[in-house]
Amino acid sequence: MPARVTEVKCKRCRTVLFTEEATPLLSAHGEIRNTSENLPCTANGSEPPCLYISTDTVPDWIKECINKELWTKGKINCQNCKSRLGSFNFVNEIKCECGECPVPPIRIIRSKVDRPADSLRNSIV
Ligand SMILES: [Zn+2]
Ligand SMILES: [Zn+2]
Repeated sequence: MPARVTEVKCKRCRTVLFTEEATPLLSAHGEIRNTSENLPCTANGSEPPCLYISTDTVPDWIKECINKELWTKGKINCQNCKSRLGSFNFVNEIKCECGECPVPPIRIIRSKVDRPADSLRNSIV
């Protein structure tokens, strides 16, 4: 089976930010999201506004942003068009919507990126 490469792009300038193979996008509970899965925090059917990245798989350019802020907190901007894509926070623990789990420290704002899984989902529904 050929490797499926799912590129996540900046919605504004279409620059490829990372691939989901190298950098899986996680739910607030730190699980890898599959489009059809009903995870606790998405039980009401609405898509969560944010996706999360584990520090183990964070792409180098985001790691550089984090290094610049000495692993405290800050914003993640597109390296090309500077549009804001997300943020990171290693200082405060943030809980997920159901209040059960601390969310992963790196978050990506879903509406700012173009994600193949999301367009696929829309075409099925
Ligand atoms: Zn961009
Ligand atoms: Zn939750």
